[in-house]
Amino acid sequence: MNIYADNAATTKMSKKAVSAMMPYFEELYGNPSSLYSAGQRAKEAIEEARETIAGIIGASAREIIFTSGGTESDNQAIMSAAANGKRQGKYHIISDAIEHHAVLHTLKKLEKEGFEVTYVPVHKNGIINVSALEKAIRDDTCLVTVMYANNEIGTVQPIKKISEICRRRGVVFHTDAVQAVGHVPIDVNDLGVDMLSASAHKFHGAKGTGFLYVRRGVRISSFIEGGEQERGRRAGTENVAGIVSMGAALKEVAADIDKNVPRITALRNRLIDGLSEIPHSALNGDREKRLPGNVNFCFEGIEGESLLLLLDDKGISASSGSACASGSLDPSHVLLAIGRVHDVAHGSLRLTLGEDITQKEIAYIIKSVKEAVEYLRGFSPVWNDCVSGKSKFIL
Ligand SMILES: *Cc1c(COP(=O)(O)O)cnc(C)c1O
Repeated sequence: MNIYADNAATTKMSKKAVSAMMPYFEELYGNPSSLYSAGQRAKEAIEEARETIAGIIGASAREIIFTSGGTESDNQAIMSAAANGKRQGKYHIISDAIEHHAVLHTLKKLEKEGFEVTYVPVHKNGIINVSALEKAIRDDTCLVTVMYANNEIGTVQPIKKISEICRRRGVVFHTDAVQAVGHVPIDVNDLGVDMLSASAHKFHGAKGTGFLYVRRGVRISSFIEGGEQERGRRAGTENVAGIVSMGAALKEVAADIDKNVPRITALRNRLIDGLSEIPHSALNGDREKRLPGNVNFCFEGIEGESLLLLLDDKGISASSGSACASGSLDPSHVLLAIGRVHDVAHGSLRLTLGEDITQKEIAYIIKSVKEAVEYLRGFSPVWNDCVSGKSKFIL
């Protein structure tokens, strides 16, 4: 069996998205800024994608800026809000400890430039402490940025509640919704957010394309100098094919979202139940308030990367928050933030399901993970010490 269970990292492009973008590499290659018809047809395709995307998230077309992806959208939202804050002498930003690096590293940069950032803690279930957030707001707070859904543990934050607080206090609110758009229904007006980031390759569109929703009236700056594309808010010749693929991909997932959410959620719960049978394991993140397709576990006594290699042999593509898998010395900052100690965080496994996941595949994943964990524990000194009573189990 071959199962791609790493949809939080990226998704396979849908056939519709691929075929929608192809003409813009071939016959419709005109520059959207050109006045002759080949250019204008490309321009029309961009505007059509903008209308489609805006319609799906309840925005108006003018509120959508096309970018090179989630990272750029996050950067632009945060840097813009900081620039606005600076003009008003407001140098305080609020975020939390489990954001994506696109947000965290942008905030780190601002801290070096004299901004002060409060990182609100999350509860053990990965949900942000809303009352701590409310208390952290000051007169000089120029931005609150909290992700809609976490890319590792899938937790869905109370965005509406947070935006109500921000609105009451007159603070701009940005949400990184890269994991949510295309996976759960999103309406920017219902949510009340001021800015929202999304990325096409997380919902079956092309890589290198994203958008930033900016509510009318919120001041936004361009951080790329050049032409007047995107109404002066993002310079550079548009990624026409990518933008077209994003519109097509979002339209396709949005059409099936009401049917897919309950089905994927049920299969996810079955997977969680199956993996919970493994002794000394724990689910990471809230069981209910999580993305439909996200499963994240810690298994005591094993290394995440060894588990990934064994699963790969069985045809399963997954991911881990262990140090090696995350490409640093420390395990995932998200797992540490929810209170997992280093040893336990190293034994983490993330499975993120696609829309085409089946019951049979879920059963196969459960069986494969059980076998792999048991096998690895068989020659794990840490595990054997716990079994023999030399040291204590943590989970
Ligand atoms: C993937 C991801 C990003 C980055 O998006 P890119 O389009 O890959 O740059 C940002 N935030 C979250 C939560 C993500 O999952």
